[in-house]
Amino acid sequence: MTDRRNFLKASLLGASASALAWAGKLAAKQASTSQAFSGARVVSTWDFGVAANKAAWTVLSQGGHALDAVETGVQVPESDLKNHSVGKAGYPDRDGHVTLDASIMDADGNCGAVAALEHIEHPICVARLVMDRTPHVLLVGEGALQFALAQGFKKQELLTPESDKAWHEWLKTARYQPSINSEVHDYGHGGSPGMPGGAGNHDTIGMLAIDAQGRLAGACTTSGMAWKMRGRVGDSPIIGAGLYVDGEVGAATSTGVGEEVIRNAGSFLVVELMRQGRSPQEACKEAVMRIIRRRPTQTKELQVGFLAMNKHGDVGAWAIQHGFSYAVCDAKKQDGLIPSSSVYSTSFS
Ligand code: ASP
Repeated sequence: MTDRRNFLKASLLGASASALAWAGKLAAKQASTSQAFSGARVVSTWDFGVAANKAAWTVLSQGGHALDAVETGVQVPESDLKNHSVGKAGYPDRDGHVTLDASIMDADGNCGAVAALEHIEHPICVARLVMDRTPHVLLVGEGALQFALAQGFKKQELLTPESDKAWHEWLKTARYQPSINSEVHDYGHGGSPGMPGGAGNHDTIGMLAIDAQGRLAGACTTSGMAWKMRGRVGDSPIIGAGLYVDGEVGAATSTGVGEEVIRNAGSFLVVELMRQGRSPQEACKEAVMRIIRRRPTQTKELQVGFLAMNKHGDVGAWAIQHGFSYAVCDAKKQDGLIPSSSVYSTSFS
């Protein structure tokens, strides 16, 4: 996770010159965009979105469906043992259980999700089967696990020795305060006090894709807030909160304090704002401002970021705090990482 922090720092400080230049070109292109669809593209939250996008691109570049692309892409961080906020090796709840949330949605309103799922490395694939093989949208806990096992998924231990160690470290000094840390706090990006290597205690991969035929889809997967209360579910598996897709308009996803995103139906709001004519960037900004207006005294303790793509493939993002980034991949560039705009652009203490 230290590597990840350094990578992000490098991306934001040094290496980001080229990303910024590319982001500038992207923005200029958006400004002058005709309403024509500009080709396949995939975007994801955070630095780990770069590797996830590359996997999604293997599907998109061969003319595959956006839905298959996002399902393929987010499996990369789900399996990454260095990633402690998504899938296997995710940090557990305060009782030591790794519980995963995920959702997937296509352009026609088809969707599936799982919440508080244990023992399954790829919750996104279970969410896909909830969508494809049941009349339901969301399965939770034991029922979600039963469904997964019946579909042939293998039960496994998701708590890795490293995550277990971090949990035991946390237990030594634990005061139960479920909060999302800010990337600009002095313990660094995704860091948390008392955790080995400053490892992060949250972050979600939200991925949005448009394929060569102009079909949109999205996926979102996370282990949620580290040391959370047992049974706590965040925004990621809630359609309209952590993810929303409407083929007539666009798609949005979120990361950060899930409770604030749920309260404001965040991703649905972003899509509805785009429907009313806002650009993806403007829509994300307004959704962030909506959260801030409802929490005027707590704004500096909150981090929420939105990422959106409209049906033309234009992309935008906005966050409350500095430090959120998103990865963009298309035919021109496969490894772009772009710092998101934010309400607060400098550190606070
Ligand atoms: N949104 C996630 C949750 O609340 C965490 C995150 O993305 O940082 O579970």
